[in-house]
Amino acid sequence: MEKSLKITCIPGDGIGPEIVAEAKKVLNRTGEIYEFIPVYTDILMGGASIDACGVPLTQEAIETAKSADAVLMGSIGGDTTKSPWYKLPPNLRPEAGLLAIRKALNLFANLRPALLYSELAGACPLKEEISSRGFDIMIMRELTGGLYFGERRTVEENGVRKAIDTLTYDENEIRRIAVKGFDIARKRKKKVTSVDKANVLDSSRLWRAVVEEVAKDYPDVTLEHMLVDNCAMQLVKDPAQFDVVLTENMFGDILSDEASMITGSIGMLASASLNDTKFGLYEPSHGSAPDIAGMDIANPIATILSAAMMLRFSFDLDGAADAIEEAVKAVLKDGFRTGDIYSQGCEKVGCSRMGDLIAERIR
Ligand code: NAD
Repeated sequence: MEKSLKITCIPGDGIGPEIVAEAKKVLNRTGEIYEFIPVYTDILMGGASIDACGVPLTQEAIETAKSADAVLMGSIGGDTTKSPWYKLPPNLRPEAGLLAIRKALNLFANLRPALLYSELAGACPLKEEISSRGFDIMIMRELTGGLYFGERRTVEENGVRKAIDTLTYDENEIRRIAVKGFDIARKRKKKVTSVDKANVLDSSRLWRAVVEEVAKDYPDVTLEHMLVDNCAMQLVKDPAQFDVVLTENMFGDILSDEASMITGSIGMLASASLNDTKFGLYEPSHGSAPDIAGMDIANPIATILSAAMMLRFSFDLDGAADAIEEAVKAVLKDGFRTGDIYSQGCEKVGCSRMGDLIAERIR
């Protein structure tokens, strides 16, 4: 019997509805071949929810998301200089919806793949001798602990202002993301690079110790440790060496942006945020691109690749996920490009046509 997949969709704002429609198109086609039935329930979030309900996310929408097996999102937000949404207090702006759903769903592991497609190597800002080796990196960032969530305050001592931020991790927080990291490495090239600053920070020394403990359960996965400053250099010097990069919140924030930049194409970058079950929220790394909304020119590939991640990590449908990734590669090889990744000699296509072309190539 065909398996049905309960998916909550958040089309969101700007180009969100256009790119989510293409991801659904590709998922539906993949389901026909790989024998699953996606069952979608749409919810509002961000600006669309503010307009309809007065808040960026309702409790009812949260409950709908919780009742699904996974959430597929476009993106939310508007033009931050012009949209009336940004005249509202911060807790009622579109982005507050995103923070609220991440919290409600207890998403603690953020995954951002940085993959260089050989057809798009020209967009890579690295030297050709480096980019020609290609790279396929999964940056795995802890999302709910560390410096961004520690106690903070600003005081004045003897007329001098002083600010204090605290970086705290307990072993359980480290263990749960390390387990995810090793599980994911098992689905890839079986290598984990754990990134820390263990030569200085106690939190990093605990991180390293706990990662070593977890590694004992994964003898088939190679573990190496790297200091964060070295990792920042290695990402531009020799990105081909990495498979899964496992790191804490702030280091991951910075390294994941660096890794995306070296691919050179924002419209291609997928992402996932996972909790400690199979549940995840999948979304492109880019924003809602209000400047091109409704024009049928957005690149839907980041969202389509996010849907592939959803099949792989929430539904264990690795074959179907591979098929989507291969179809994306085939479309690029056949010379089709949306405007953002266009180069001379290629055929320029719109958002909807790109979705059709990928769906047609699912095998
Ligand atoms: P953006 O990523 O939306 O756009 C940056 C530039 O890249 C724009 O020129 C845009 O046209 C282009 N671009 C982005 N995605 C594209 C795609 N798929 N195809 C073709 N071109 C694409 O970033 P921004 O302009 O800084 O932000 C716009 C809004 O998105 C803001 O409200 C911001 O808060 C929001 N945002 C939301 C998320 C999210 O939902 N997770 C993430 C980032 C930004």
